[in-house]
Amino acid sequence: MILKKSTAYLVALLIGIYVNAQDLTFEEYNPISTLVVPNHMVKKAKFPFIDVHGHQYNMPTQDLSPVIAAMDTLNLTIMINLSGRSEEDLQKSVKNISDHFPNRFVVFANINFDGVDDNGWADKKATQLAQDVKNGARGLKIYKSLGLRNTDVNGKRVAIDDSRLDPIWEKCAELGIPVLIHSADPKSFWDDFDKDNERWLELKTHPRRKRSDTNPVGWQQIIDEQHAMFRKHPKTIFINAHMGWYANNLTKLGALLNEMPNVNVEIGAIIAELGRQPRFAKAFFEKYQDRILFGKDSWKPEEFPTYFRVLETADEYFPYHKKYHAFWPMYGLDLPDEILKKVYYKNALRIVPGLDKSLFPK
Ligand SMILES: [Zn+2]
Repeated sequence: MILKKSTAYLVALLIGIYVNAQDLTFEEYNPISTLVVPNHMVKKAKFPFIDVHGHQYNMPTQDLSPVIAAMDTLNLTIMINLSGRSEEDLQKSVKNISDHFPNRFVVFANINFDGVDDNGWADKKATQLAQDVKNGARGLKIYKSLGLRNTDVNGKRVAIDDSRLDPIWEKCAELGIPVLIHSADPKSFWDDFDKDNERWLELKTHPRRKRSDTNPVGWQQIIDEQHAMFRKHPKTIFINAHMGWYANNLTKLGALLNEMPNVNVEIGAIIAELGRQPRFAKAFFEKYQDRILFGKDSWKPEEFPTYFRVLETADEYFPYHKKYHAFWPMYGLDLPDEILKKVYYKNALRIVPGLDKSLFPK
């Protein structure tokens, strides 16, 4: 009797598995690779590095020691907190840093674009920025809201190359600080949401990310505005976040970097683009080794090793951590030490003022 019961249970279970397998969705399908190849986990970067795209949202008051503990396990030596805000908040963050970990964090200031049409708005903001820099800010971070959401008093979208903003970009050149700017989002968000869309899963799981030519305007328009602004301010140093959303077209990105020597890029959130084209990406890193900075964006220490492995190893077909970014496995670029050093810290030390060079090898 007992045997019969368990047999029936087993049959039911098998049917269950069979039915489930037939009904698996794309999200559930997550095959374990049977490929056996050499693999080299990299839990800690080969060299101390600077994350130029960090976010710590509570820096004015937060206890930074748990962040430092995680940074140390990764070899993350300096984190640039792009969420530095302005005025009093910024001063508090700088004080928190100088009181506890003076050479391990720096902050970039932010600008609120409300009131852009007020008389003298840009000059006021430029003056504030100069004060923020005096108070310890080492750069300016522009969020993607500029170009996507920020509007003037008439509800009209503020274009990235709006001339009303010019005094701000000019002030950054004068102050000798870089502008890290994130504009738009992956182009796939603007494409039709259908079986051909490479970010179908991301749009399915994050439907609010969907954009269109009227929400708010076409992708290319926002990107073109950004490039027009870069061209108009050749003395200002820019770091284009997320490789300017051209990591999937490095030929185009190379042409842009050739044309605009004031522009650099960082690799936050696009490592999966590089990890699917290891040979072409390596050639790109060889050619543009002075223009690429390490950035991560979201603070998830457990995701950094994928970045290290893509940059440092020659490993093949290893997993990435977010299926909605990449349902494809990664391949390592196997970058030589001299290029790794530039990407990990040398370029940032050159571009961002006042970082402690003594923390890094020559
Ligand atoms: Zn960011």
